[in-house]
Amino acid sequence: MEVLYSSTRDGSMQVKASEAILKGLPDDGGLFVPDRIPALGKSLTELSGMGYREVAYEVMRLYLTDFTEEELKNCIANAYDSKFDTKEIAPLVHADGVHFLELFHGATIAFKDMALSILPHLMTAAARKNNVKKEIVILTATSGDTGKAALAGFAGVKGTKIIVFYPKDGVSPVQERQMVTQKGENTYVVGIHGNFDDAQTGVKNIFADKGLEKRMDGQGYQFSSANSINIGRLVPQIVYYVYAYTRLLREGKIAEGDKINVVVPTGNFGNILAAFYAKNMGVPIHRLICASNENKVLYDFFRTGIYDKNREFVLTSSPSMDILISSNLERLVYRIAGNDPEKNVCFMKALAGEGRYEITESMKGQLEDFYGGYASEKETADTIRSVWKEAGYVLDTHTAVADCVYRKYLEETKDGLPAVIVSTASPFKFARSVMAAIDEKYDAMTDFELVDELSGLAKITVPSAVEEIREARVIHDNICEKDEMQKMVEKFLGLA
Ligand SMILES: *Cc1c(COP(=O)(O)O)cnc(C)c1O
Repeated sequence: MEVLYSSTRDGSMQVKASEAILKGLPDDGGLFVPDRIPALGKSLTELSGMGYREVAYEVMRLYLTDFTEEELKNCIANAYDSKFDTKEIAPLVHADGVHFLELFHGATIAFKDMALSILPHLMTAAARKNNVKKEIVILTATSGDTGKAALAGFAGVKGTKIIVFYPKDGVSPVQERQMVTQKGENTYVVGIHGNFDDAQTGVKNIFADKGLEKRMDGQGYQFSSANSINIGRLVPQIVYYVYAYTRLLREGKIAEGDKINVVVPTGNFGNILAAFYAKNMGVPIHRLICASNENKVLYDFFRTGIYDKNREFVLTSSPSMDILISSNLERLVYRIAGNDPEKNVCFMKALAGEGRYEITESMKGQLEDFYGGYASEKETADTIRSVWKEAGYVLDTHTAVADCVYRKYLEETKDGLPAVIVSTASPFKFARSVMAAIDEKYDAMTDFELVDELSGLAKITVPSAVEEIREARVIHDNICEKDEMQKMVEKFLGLA
């Protein structure tokens, strides 16, 4: 049965999956949502006999219903290949009494690779299907990891250009180096004087500029998005939740139907939303544990029903979660508002105007699936140190936030169901913060000395994503103010 996509802000318009992927965002400023969440087509036991690619096909075909089997299987085969350093693609590692779902084995060693290694293929297939002849310009705001993963995915892809904006002082040294050394004639990278929310708002404004859209059209360009607001990112992220459950089954850690908890370190609410979709497809997930760092808007939201971004933006050691406007939450709000675009628009207007909204009591009642928690900077560092000491396993800062929140959850609820903790980045990507947490003595070392030190400590060879940037030449040195983003885009595209 066909799944169509409509906007969270306007129920009258419906598009096919390939159109939603191409467009990225509906014109009304909302987000595309599927008109229903499909149920899994095969039993979890059946799926447990399959590899990652096959599970990916079984999940994605249910959402991307206007892609042919051949198209989708090609996209999957081109995405989940030797770019990943393990055949399992998303291995489940058992340590410290929990199961870490390692999503950092792709080209840029963060979980963004799980979706961004397939998005360019989905997008070019979608362009072919829809007879799009224009060049697609991918505009992306990044808190550090999406940028590099999107650059790596789209570099050299014919018929596309990619422009990435990142907060100049808001990413880790390795993250920044990964981006500014990106090769490929169709790639552009800009550091902005502002934070991630500024970058994301800037990109949204550029998308909404009708005059610019016209001029782009005249030059043979059209925009799309590689951010997690694109359903072409969301759908591939559902796959690994199904996969994780089937690995537990296969290893005999659970029986089919047993419930598990899932813990997700959260920023823009994309990853955990995918887990929510997986649950609604039939994966027996009890609680979705939403872990925040000190930018704990979501924690407050789940406790009080009030979303309030009016607070200080904190730069933390888990920069990919330094976000006060979690875009994908809109998809959840829309759903618990009874899939009612008008109600959703009221909340989103209040958010844009006063920076805050409060959901109704009946909406709050529908948030039982979720548990919000947060970890302070000190708690995050303490978690890295203690897991390292007790289990010999080195967590990155984001995963440490999740692990810490899980321990608090366990303490508070005594709910000891098997727990999958989503491990979103390799510790090598955040070597400075990780090593500082383990021992003060590392403070004086350079970033690459720390990388080598970490390699010795964790007994893991330095990932090639990090090796590559050791000697790489800086190619991109663009910097701009947050209100100059559009000018930069026009310059790159020769529209100025
Ligand atoms: C992007 C990112 C997150 C947050 O994911 P969302 O989908 O934005 O909630 C967490 N950890 C890492 C390492 C990331 O790159």
